[in-house]
Amino acid sequence: MGILPNILFVLALILGIGYFARNIRKIIRNIRLGKAADVTGPTAERWKNMARIALGQQKMVVRPVSGFLHIIVYLGFIIINIEVLEIIIDGVFGTHRIFSFLGGFYDFLIGSFEILALLVIVSVVIFWIRRNLLKLQRFWKPEMKGWPKKDADLILYIEVILMGLFLTMNAADFRLQEMGVDHYNQAGAFPVSSYIAGWMSAWSETTLIAVERVAWWFHILGILFFLNYLYYSKHLHILLAFPNTYFGRLKPQGQFNNLESVQKEVALMMDPNADPFAPPAEDAPPPEKFGASDVMDLNQIQLLNAYTCTECGRCTSECPANQTGKKLSPRKIMMDTRDRLEEV
Ligand code: SF4
Repeated sequence: MGILPNILFVLALILGIGYFARNIRKIIRNIRLGKAADVTGPTAERWKNMARIALGQQKMVVRPVSGFLHIIVYLGFIIINIEVLEIIIDGVFGTHRIFSFLGGFYDFLIGSFEILALLVIVSVVIFWIRRNLLKLQRFWKPEMKGWPKKDADLILYIEVILMGLFLTMNAADFRLQEMGVDHYNQAGAFPVSSYIAGWMSAWSETTLIAVERVAWWFHILGILFFLNYLYYSKHLHILLAFPNTYFGRLKPQGQFNNLESVQKEVALMMDPNADPFAPPAEDAPPPEKFGASDVMDLNQIQLLNAYTCTECGRCTSECPANQTGKKLSPRKIMMDTRDRLEEV
């Protein structure tokens, strides 16, 4: 086979990352359809917000149960990237476990990836149960029918498959290491997959190599698929949470912006000498549009918000109008804004 697998791997990588970059460019183009937004303010505070909320997941601890589960899945996502880096180097250069020279630290890394992978599977199962068996009300609102529901479930299945492939790959590798097969040097700790490897004890070397390779390939192809799936999914927030928190409001919560157009109208009404029927001055600029009738009337931050919405429905479940049975749903506004943006 020689270098054929390496060439195929590089091609898959170029295709996967290229398509992803194309979609990111589409998102940037779409957001630019909006009006310019005021993003002035201390840069240091913006970075701090991003580190605290997007990286540190500060808001997650507000609801301890789902927060804890989300943090596990999020940590799994971040840490698994180190493992993906190794897979990429191995795939391009035909090496095997290139980082194994790190010795004890490598064992620690692989061991913690495995524990995280197991915790991710457990968390995902709990998420699935909350969503589909316990039927949390906010997941079953009318706007969650069709694709949003499928999307939420699909992502859970993808995560289980990816983690399952990772553990299967390690289990076969562990067995091959035990058998002293060439190329499979002693590297890594396998606190979870060593149990799976127990089921593989009767498998031949050829079968184990085939299982290890197939799991390795599907794992990395699955990650590339996942990367590209994000664009079509509510899980785009995994990436957009970073710019979104960077460009977030720095003003105190609840502080309103003064709408100049409204202020002008009110001032006119309060002024006894004003003539409401007087024609505007010749050099007066055309009146600004009031409200928003399409995505172009929103500003770029609002459009970024729509792309970042996770469709968790917490805004809708707290909305007093929605609680009284009205159809108003802040989540639906976000979802429709994003759909309309794609349409435009
Ligand atoms: S806008 Fe509403 S549904 Fe979207 S992430 Fe925020 S709280 Fe959740």
